[in-house]
Amino acid sequence: MIDEVKRILNAETCMICGSHAKDNLLRQVDLLRIGSLRKFAQVETKNEKCLNEIQSCFCRSCLSMLPILTYNKFWQSDKKHIQVMSIFSYENPIKPLIIQLKFYQKHYLAKFLSVFIFLIRQNYLQENTNSIFVPIPLHQNRFKERGYNQSELIALEISKLTGIKYDNKILLRTKNTNRQTETKNYEDRLRNMKDAFVLDETYLLENIDLFSKKRIILIDDVLTTGSTIESAASPLISKGFEVAAITIAREDLNYFRLHD
Ligand SMILES: [Zn+2]
Repeated sequence: MIDEVKRILNAETCMICGSHAKDNLLRQVDLLRIGSLRKFAQVETKNEKCLNEIQSCFCRSCLSMLPILTYNKFWQSDKKHIQVMSIFSYENPIKPLIIQLKFYQKHYLAKFLSVFIFLIRQNYLQENTNSIFVPIPLHQNRFKERGYNQSELIALEISKLTGIKYDNKILLRTKNTNRQTETKNYEDRLRNMKDAFVLDETYLLENIDLFSKKRIILIDDVLTTGSTIESAASPLISKGFEVAAITIAREDLNYFRLHD
């Protein structure tokens, strides 16, 4: 908590290396290279706010090192036809940020990672305002152990930025699966994740207006083999929902850095 307050007070310190971010501002032309920021010519207030946020929290050299995935490249699942959009490759300096968000209670990082989702995928988000963000849930045992769900934090922040609704009740995780990182191949992961998620049918019935004709956008931190996303999408697709997904990062080497 103290750490978080300190962060806010020193918001001009680089979140990655700790140096003074404002001393080292990115030029607008650098920022323009961040994905859809090429659209920045038509400055919108929210864009500007997000850019200020980024400029005051990351120094120029760390920003230029962000491993941004090649624009418009989606991961597509074989079986369920789910399109997954990821923003970064799971490389430095994004990897340690996600680990800190996930395991070290650095909740404020959700906000900054969401700012990148907003900036880089804003065209898509603007075209899909009739959607609901649904974070990939943790099993309740894991939730108790950790105290929070990092994907929920991201989904909440991106919901605030876009005005797209958010729901963390419809999807439940019934199986406390082995940590995905410990199960290596795709087949193992798929087996591990089989029937891991169900819908809360009662909740859905009670909130049928909220969900009618809505596309569900699943939110997760990292995409590895895609088996978690596929498994979470499965009960939603069976109910007739159209499902897409957004993750902060993906294990993929097709990325560029601004300094390249
Ligand atoms: Zn830095």
